Amino acid sequence: MAEVLARAVGPWVQAALDLLFPPRCQVCGAPDEFPLCGVCWASFPRISPPICQVCGRPLRGPVDLMFTCTPCRQGPNRLRVRAFGRYEGRLRDAVHALKYRDRLALAEPLGDALLEVVRADPVLCALDALVPVPLHPRRQAERGFNQAEEVARRLGRALRKPTVRALVRVRDTASQIELDEEQRRRNVRGAFRALAEVRGLRLVLVDDVVTTGSTLRECARTLRAAGAAEVSAVAVAMAVPEVLSASLSP
Ligand SMILES: [Zn+2]
Ligand SMILES: [Zn+2]
Repeated sequence: MAEVLARAVGPWVQAALDLLFPPRCQVCGAPDEFPLCGVCWASFPRISPPICQVCGRPLRGPVDLMFTCTPCRQGPNRLRVRAFGRYEGRLRDAVHALKYRDRLALAEPLGDALLEVVRADPVLCALDALVPVPLHPRRQAERGFNQAEEVARRLGRALRKPTVRALVRVRDTASQIELDEEQRRRNVRGAFRALAEVRGLRLVLVDDVVTTGSTLRECARTLRAAGAAEVSAVAVAMAVPEVLSASLSP
């Protein structure tokens, strides 16, 4: 009933209803734990080393901790990305609940997940501001919020760093699901414009899910072109279709 009502009236009312109804885990529905239960939190499939030092993809096998994967060694315009976990299991459920079922309260534990990622990484720790990956204004109007921004604000409060809407999406890019990496790169080329004054700043992009990284790299390219000193990125979840083999190591 609450969900039917909320769908009719929007995400902020859902947030209010969530507070009125008995507290439940917003992912699995377990009672008395809001917004996320301990079982869901513990079961999140965290990414841990060894990872590629650039794109953050997890690797299998014995590789040294400075490993860089082949695409990152060869590709242009690579970006340092760190993700909290794999885009599967209850982490995927949590991202979906936030994004598609308006469970805005989940921005809190997912922001805390990113806090773990930032605190573990000296490069990320040295940031001046967070920049959420923007939705196209039309999509944001439909959804009522930008999930990346909700998570970024939680992270920014914990780090005592500003969250800046430094990018605007000027083109609503087609779904990228069917595209390979090169097609994705072309698809997002020129999709963003830098708005805020970013000159000289060390910025960390924030997104909910990273797949090939083409969207994040285009955001980074746009911010660097606008004068940002350094850009790296964090994501709640990384879609990892297949773990790179350690045999790719030089
Ligand atoms: Zn749960
Ligand atoms: Zn890599």
